[in-house]
Amino acid sequence: METVRSPDELRYWVESWRLESRSVGFVPTMGALHEGHLTLVRRAAELADRVVVSIFVNPTQFGAGEDFERYPRNVELDSELLQEKGCHLLFLPETETIYPEGHSTYVDMGAPAERLEGEFRPGHFRGVATVVTQLLNLVRPDIAVFGEKDAQQLAVIRRLVRDLHLPVEIASHPTVREPDGLAMSSRNAYLSDEERAAAATIYRALSSCRQHIEQGERSAQAIRHVLREVLLQEPLIDLEYAEVVDAATFEPILKIRSSIVMLVAVHIGKTRLIDNISMEIDG
Ligand code: AMP
Repeated sequence: METVRSPDELRYWVESWRLESRSVGFVPTMGALHEGHLTLVRRAAELADRVVVSIFVNPTQFGAGEDFERYPRNVELDSELLQEKGCHLLFLPETETIYPEGHSTYVDMGAPAERLEGEFRPGHFRGVATVVTQLLNLVRPDIAVFGEKDAQQLAVIRRLVRDLHLPVEIASHPTVREPDGLAMSSRNAYLSDEERAAAATIYRALSSCRQHIEQGERSAQAIRHVLREVLLQEPLIDLEYAEVVDAATFEPILKIRSSIVMLVAVHIGKTRLIDNISMEIDG
């Protein structure tokens, strides 16, 4: 595995693969890698001949008072894990490479970036859309792989790529979970034992709603109610939002039909966690 920091070195490798007619898959991450990230790397290796992974804790997607400073960073361990999983190139840009002095161009988006994460983390998707556009332009992959764990981010990126005609295919992979259902996340490392136990309630609440829908419930309001009720039973959970939306627009819906996503954001102590389950409903 090659490790590069500059766009020139990155270009050197990607262009040498292109000359050999090899396709390039890309997985952007913020590091502190876990099995969720590594599953995306394996997926990229199935979809393309060469795999590039970036690690960049992007300052512009964190709001004031969020966890940018204390976000877990462990590039050495990440690098070992990536090597084992067959990553070909690790791109570790410096902040000055992505945001050089005088940088002033940002990607602003409407729906599906406005609600939910967009509402509770103002500026978050502006930072995400900007850095993803830059990374896609730097790496120029044939395909980029994102996790369904960040369902709204995935919808935002699909829209970004469509609207700006970016020449890349977007692939996704289902959320990888701990045995008790908690979605793997770099932020789970912040949780105390007690908070970690409480965090399992998130997936329990989402699963309980999925079961209600499978049994025929079609009122989105009733599903929101169940979601909130289960979450609020856990005293350590401070609920930010619990919503049922249309999978394409991320607008709240009245009736459960076609493609939907149930999404949750909570605070447990100082840690903010998000999760979701999407469903396809027949008829
Ligand atoms: P992050 O490092 O949190 O920015 O995540 C990098 C990529 O990994 C994003 O596409 C995430 O959606 C994806 N990801 C994070 N956690 C998981 C998970 N538990 N399962 C699948 N993908 C994940």
